[in-house]
Amino acid sequence: MHTTGPSRVVFGAGTLPRVREEVGRLDGSRVLLLSDGSPALRKDTERLREALGDLVVAEFDGAAMHTPVEVTEQALSLVRDRRADCLVAIGGGSTTGLAKALAVRTDLPQVIVPTTYAGSEVTPVLGETVDGRKVTRSSPAILPETVVYDVELTLGLPVAMSVTSGVNALAHVVEALYSPDATPVTDAMALEAAAAIARALPALHDDPSDLEARAELLQAAWLAGTCLGAVGMGLHHKLCHTLGGAFGLPHADTHTVVLPHAMAYNAPAAPEAMDRIARALGVPDAPTGVFDLICRVGGPTSLRGLGMAEADLDRAAELATAQPYPNPRELTRRGLADLLGDAWHGRRPQ
Ligand code: NAD
Repeated sequence: MHTTGPSRVVFGAGTLPRVREEVGRLDGSRVLLLSDGSPALRKDTERLREALGDLVVAEFDGAAMHTPVEVTEQALSLVRDRRADCLVAIGGGSTTGLAKALAVRTDLPQVIVPTTYAGSEVTPVLGETVDGRKVTRSSPAILPETVVYDVELTLGLPVAMSVTSGVNALAHVVEALYSPDATPVTDAMALEAAAAIARALPALHDDPSDLEARAELLQAAWLAGTCLGAVGMGLHHKLCHTLGGAFGLPHADTHTVVLPHAMAYNAPAAPEAMDRIARALGVPDAPTGVFDLICRVGGPTSLRGLGMAEADLDRAAELATAQPYPNPRELTRRGLADLLGDAWHGRRPQ
């Protein structure tokens, strides 16, 4: 079974001014503009505000990682006080998360302007933090109506963040290829995205202003996000969710460190998917190929380097096996402890 969500995508370079027209298509005339207040995005947020002009009735710049409900409630009171009828968000997955959290509570339409490669803008999934616990839900009301990708907005994303965010996208396609829900449509998107990521990451590492590489990676992020929204994910995403939620590790960096190890764990049970990934990446072996790609572009390779304590590895293995979920290979506490040990030390997978 394959279902495609009803979302509209505008993709290009210099598309930011088109957001106004897209708000109009959704019959919006009272916009709440959302951002995370980061200085790195201030200029682009100003340009967006100018482009929207008199449509903006309120602004909220407090979006935060993992979408805490307290933050959502503050923004919600602005929606009500200012009678906003459309949400426009500019930023990474954290700002998109806030727009989704507001949309699911108000049914307001969303126009998302992504500035990273996380892919949340094309999924009907929302992860929120309630009393320190991350809770995930999925609903058609969460899927943004419109996405405006402007490649130029990603030019300022520092190389280190571009690398980890790009590997976050790669993780979506790897797990889509061995998902029990995979379809010919998600397979095609995933393989196209994997090849594009393998080409674009070294290119933009060597020249961060390479607009073609940026465009290729942003397009791959769109495809990868669509896979993430369409099929269930396995061990890798659950493990990163656990490490982020329980130990406060940064989202995209954690994905980057864990991916080659989660792939090595699953490889014996998903040989066909691994062969297809290896071919798309142009390498003989998928898990080591991904590890080498991350090294080539200077990405993080160890959980130790991300600040995780070795003493927490056991608890992480226990948490990650606490609830069963679909995965190509059976999950054992021992197997996960070994995987996490390798990831903590930053060893090249065997
Ligand atoms: P983020 O949105 O937290 O952004 C990270 C940092 O990068 C922030 O400081 C931000 O201001 C800065 N930044 C963003 N774009 C920039 C740019 N172009 N130039 C310079 N700085 C920039 O990080 P993220 O990795 O995009 O998103 C992570 C969050 O998204 C997590 O909470 C994760 O759970 C969620 N997520 C959700 C889904 C989903 O489908 N629900 C999918 C992927 C990620």
